[in-house]
Order: sequence, then structure tokens, then C-alpha cells
Amino acid sequence: MKLQVIPVGIYQTNCYLIEEEGLCIAVDPGDGDGAILRYLEKKEKRVNAVIVTHGHMDHFADAAELAGHFQTPIYFPKEECAYLSSAEARRGPYDERIVHIFEKALAQRGVLTEEGEEIRFGSLCFRVIVLSGHSKAGMCLYEASQKILLAGDQLFAGSIGRTDLYRGSGTDLVCGIRQKLLCLPEDTVVLPGHGPHTTIGEEKRSNPFLSEEVLWNL
Ligand SMILES: [Zn+2]
Repeated sequence: MKLQVIPVGIYQTNCYLIEEEGLCIAVDPGDGDGAILRYLEKKEKRVNAVIVTHGHMDHFADAAELAGHFQTPIYFPKEECAYLSSAEARRGPYDERIVHIFEKALAQRGVLTEEGEEIRFGSLCFRVIVLSGHSKAGMCLYEASQKILLAGDQLFAGSIGRTDLYRGSGTDLVCGIRQKLLCLPEDTVVLPGHGPHTTIGEEKRSNPFLSEEVLWNL
């Protein structure tokens, strides 16, 4: 497996390109200015699938363009999609025009994912782990053979995702990480949506947001 990280946009979102057996997957293409597409064209590469971990603009801004250009599916968490389309979301954080563009792309190319589902590309098999708290219901993807976790904005090196956005919840996020992510093998490499990579073991030992004291105070 070949893994490449390309930080894009003003928030320097980590867009991951994962290549295996001639297939290429783009995870969280969030630039909004076509940077990933330009990069792929320059390298004469194409993508076979687009994965979006959650419904924040800095993670999906280029998803529709990429998927349209290469005629690929867009994998997106189902419950997050339902929320994105809701009246509550439109009253709150989401720009109507952006939601419309994204909904159109999802209607044409969307593959909605749920907890426990497996997404297969060649020999790679990503298990969907849904977590609430950073957004309504984003997803992480765990690939056991390569021991990698695409963590979106749920878990970072030494930190966790912000929980002050719409439908955010510190309790949900910390409990979800402890229950669903910290049980993964300690040498699993965590590939977060921003910043450097880490491991499950390192976060178990040293992430201040996941300590027992924090849990008792929730
Ligand atoms: Zn986010």
C-alpha cells in the first residue's frame, strides 16, 4: 500500500491518497479550489473512489468535483448525510448553495455507509466506525491488514476534535473514542484529518483528553 498525505486549504486538511493494486482512493479532498485534481492530473493519476469522513466543508469541498471528473462513487456516513439535509442544519452551519452542490453529487454518486460496514478496494478492507461529538455522526475507517485508522476530525495526536460546532458533544466524542477506537491494536497508525499521525497506543498513554479524570468529569 502506498499512502500519501496532501494538506489542503486554509485549514490544512489532510487529504490522503491511498494506492493499492492499481486502485487509488482519495480521502477528505477538502480544498475547494481543485488542488487535488490538479495534483492528480500533474502526476497522471486517477482516483477510483472518494471517501468523506464527515460533513464539514474543509473535508468535502472538492469531493463532488473529483468524483464527477473520475466518475467514481463518494462514500459518506449515512446519518451525517441525513443531518446535512435537515432543516436544522440549513438554519445553522451549512451554506445552502454548498449543501445543494454536495447533495446533488451524493444523489448521483453517493454510497452511504453505516456502522460496521466494510468498504473493499482490492485487498484493502475498511471497517466503518461511526462517532458522534465532533459532528452529528462522522466516520473513522479502520483497515486491519495495514493497521491504519483514518480518523477524520475525531482523534488527533495529543488532542480530539473540537466539539463546539453544531451537534457537537464532548461527552459523546470522548466516550466514543474510548469505546470504539482505543480498543484497536496499540500499533494502529492513526491518520487524522489535521496535523501529524500518531498511534492508538501513544494516544492511550498520553492524550490528556482521554485520561480517566476527564471521563469522570463528563
Ligand atoms: Zn470537522
